Amino acid sequence: MTHKFDAVILGAGAAGLMCAIEAGKRGRRVAVLERAGGPGKKILISGGGRCNFTNLHCHPENFLSANQHFAKSALARYSPSDFIALVEKHRIPYHEKALGQLFCDRSAREILDMLEAECRAAGVQIISNCNIREVRRNDRFLVRAELDEFQAPALVVATGGLSIPKLGATSLGYDLARQFGLRIQPTKPALVPLVLESRDRAAYCDLAGVSADVFASTGHHEFREKMLITHRGLSGPAILQISSYWEPDRSIRIDLAPGRNVTDTIREAKVRNISAARVALQTVLPKRLATRWLDLHAPPTWTNEALTRLESEIHSWVLEPSGTEGYDKAEVTAGGVDTSELSSKTMEAKNVPGLYFVGEVVDVTGHLGGFNFQWAWS
Ligand SMILES: Cc1cc2nc3c(=O)[nH]c(=O)nc-3n(C[C@H](O)[C@H](O)[C@H](O)COP(=O)(O)OP(=O)(O)OC[C@H]3O[C@@H](n4cnc5c(N)ncnc54)[C@H](O)[C@@H]3O)c2cc1C
Repeated sequence: MTHKFDAVILGAGAAGLMCAIEAGKRGRRVAVLERAGGPGKKILISGGGRCNFTNLHCHPENFLSANQHFAKSALARYSPSDFIALVEKHRIPYHEKALGQLFCDRSAREILDMLEAECRAAGVQIISNCNIREVRRNDRFLVRAELDEFQAPALVVATGGLSIPKLGATSLGYDLARQFGLRIQPTKPALVPLVLESRDRAAYCDLAGVSADVFASTGHHEFREKMLITHRGLSGPAILQISSYWEPDRSIRIDLAPGRNVTDTIREAKVRNISAARVALQTVLPKRLATRWLDLHAPPTWTNEALTRLESEIHSWVLEPSGTEGYDKAEVTAGGVDTSELSSKTMEAKNVPGLYFVGEVVDVTGHLGGFNFQWAWS
C-alpha cells in the first residue's frame, strides 16, 4: 500500500522526533519510520537512565567536526533554553549535576513521553518495526518498506550513528548519503573506553573499579574529570572525552595530581624512601593505584633530581592505548555526513533538494555532558 506524506523521517530517535514535532506544528503531514520496536531507545538508556538532555554551557567548541563553524547556526536557533522551556512546559523535574549538565530527577522515560506527546499533538505518525528496503527519488522520495511504500517531497535522514548496534543502529544514513552522492567524513567510535596494550593491561587492570580525578590529554585536547580503570583499560568521563580526539598509534597523557605537588612532602620527610613516597602519593590518589603506580615508577635514588623527575612523571603519565572498545561501547559515532554537503540553516543537502540529514548521522559530535542531545534537538 502507498502512503503519501509531506515529509518522511527515517529514525525515531532524538533528532527524528524533534524534527517531526516541528514539521507537524507547521501543518505538514509527517511520518517517522523506525526500525526498532519503538521510538527513542537511546533516550531511555541515556545518562544512566536519567537522560542528560542538555548542557547550560553549550558552545561550538564543545563539538568536533571537520567544519568547526557548521553547528553554530542550528545551536543558536534552538538553544538549551528552548529545550529547557519544553521540559518545563511538561513539568518534568530536573537538576544540574555538574558542569552545566541537566538530568531528569526521575527518569529518561519522561523525556521520551514528552516527545511522543508533542508528536501526537502535532499529528505525527510514528511507524515502528519498519524495515526500510529501498529509497528512490523521482519527482519525490519513495521509501519502500516490507509491505508499504511511503512517498513525500521531503525526506529527513535521522538514523543516528553506528554505536550500540543492539539498540537498532544501522549504517542506513551513511548508505543513503553515498547513494545520493554526498561525501562522508570517516566514522569512528567516540566517547568510548580505551583498551590498554597488554603490558599496561597486566600492570593495572586488576585495579578495575578504581577511579581518580585527573587531567587527561591527547594532542592539544585536555579534560579534567574522573578516570576509571576497567578490566581492559581506562574509562570514566576524562577518558571518554579524550577518546573522541584519540587516533590509533597516538599516546595519551594523564596528570595524576592536577595542580598538586606530591614530592615536596617526600623532600621534607625524615627518611626519603618508597614508604614516604607512598604516603605522599596516597594523599592525591586512591591507595591501591598510588601503591601500584609507585611500584612501577619508583626512582632508583631519592636525590632532588630524581624527585623532580618523579614529580614530572606523576603529572605526565604516558600510555599508548591499543584501541577502543568499539561501537558496542561507544556513546556516539564521530564523523558522518560531510557538513560541506549541507545547509547549516536547514540541514538540506545542497545538491539534492528535499533531502535532509539531522542529528548524529552528520559530522558533528558533542563532548560528553548533554551536548549530543542538544545537537539532535537543535
Ligand atoms: C549509552 C548511551 C548513553 C547516552 N547518554 C547521553 C546523554 O546522557 N546525553 C547526551 O547528550 N547524549 C547521550 N548519548 C548520545 C545520544 O544518545 C545520541 O547522540 C543521540 O541519541 C543522537 O540522536 P539521533 O536522533 O541522531 O540518533 P539516535 O537517537 O541513535 O536515533 C536514530 C534512530 O534511527 C533508528 N534507525 C537506525 N537505522 C534505521 C533504519 N535502517 N531504519 C529505520 N530506523 C533506523 C534507530 O533505531 C534510532 O531509533 C548516549 C548514547 C548512548 C549509547
